[in-house]
Amino acid sequence: MTTATLASLVNHQVRLAARPVGLPTAQNWQFTEEAVAEPADGEVLVQVLALSLDPAMRGWMNEGKSYIPPVELGAVMRAGGIGRVIASRNPAFTVGDVVSGTPGVQDYWRVSAEGAQRGGLVKIDLRLGTVTQWLNVLGMPGMTGYFGLMDVGQPKAGETVLVSGAAGAVGQTVGQLAKVKGCRVVGIAGGQAKCDWVVKELGFDACIDYKARAPEGVQRWDAVREGLKQHCPKGVDIYFDNVGGDILDAALARINRKARIVICGAISQYNNTGAMQGPKNYMSLLVNRARMEGMVVFDYADRYHLAVAEMAGYLKDGRMKSKEDVVEGGVRAFPDTLLKLFNGENFGKLVLKLAD
Ligand code: NAP
Repeated sequence: MTTATLASLVNHQVRLAARPVGLPTAQNWQFTEEAVAEPADGEVLVQVLALSLDPAMRGWMNEGKSYIPPVELGAVMRAGGIGRVIASRNPAFTVGDVVSGTPGVQDYWRVSAEGAQRGGLVKIDLRLGTVTQWLNVLGMPGMTGYFGLMDVGQPKAGETVLVSGAAGAVGQTVGQLAKVKGCRVVGIAGGQAKCDWVVKELGFDACIDYKARAPEGVQRWDAVREGLKQHCPKGVDIYFDNVGGDILDAALARINRKARIVICGAISQYNNTGAMQGPKNYMSLLVNRARMEGMVVFDYADRYHLAVAEMAGYLKDGRMKSKEDVVEGGVRAFPDTLLKLFNGENFGKLVLKLAD
């Protein structure tokens, strides 16, 4: 791209204006515009094609210690994504390369020489999957499902795997992979449409709709526990937890001896204004000599390529599918689109498309 063309580009950005209490609102965001600068020596300029919208973003907006520093007030909101190199002064990248990294919520991403060198910019192979699949099964959520299930859960053929957030990005990978590994798979999801999809399209053995109206005189969580009894008659060997809260408690009440509970996320708690609800049924771990273990996907970065190769094979031979929920509307659509994750409006991996 020529210097004149670059100078005509405008970078639209979304910045964190204030830390939210509860669900994020318009007051938490600021929209800014900047001229696009030519890359300096060693730098790469990327046009962002699609952003990954993740429940973790809610945690990154909070102050305080976590597995990653919080987004600073006034900074461009952190987001993973895929883009195309449009100018490069780094010999490792050429114009036209499709790359993944953490561009943030903006149209153009200027990657420092150091950032590009440290592995912050990775070329992706579109022969293995589409741009949106690289944000889903072949991307961060897929890696989470893969290593959470395989390394922490350690499934054995014939075991029962229960996964919440079953129709979401991580959940769809976990359930399909567990089926490939010969397990019985039961999902938990909000709504009949999501439950039907994971059973009919993804091959789960059953799915419990935790939002379904309970029969007269029965409490909702009792109905979920009944569903677990019905669909996990031999108990639960692995519970892959994406949601925490009452569903975690219901699952704990159904685990087998030596069960593994993979603590991947607790989305039901992310917007709590009070204290986070911890597991009430944790004594079930003692009684069943079971293990509950947290995992963070970034710890497995040096093995991502192995999981990508394996799951790209399953996508190709039809043993796995990858469903994305792609929203258009540019970076200005980011604040409202993010909320879909917290009310269950997303159906599949939530992606914000910025360019073709
Ligand atoms: P997702 O499942 O695609 O989307 C979020 C889903 O969560 C919603 O569609 C909704 O599905 C469900 N949900 C929202 N509020 C809920 C509530 N109160 N109770 C129960 N379910 C609720 O998101 P994802 O990207 O795959 O992430 C899933 C989980 O994995 C999150 O907890 C996330 O933080 C975690 N995660 C962890 C790591 C890690 O390294 N540990 C990495 C990536 C993701 P329904 O319609 O079914 O309710």
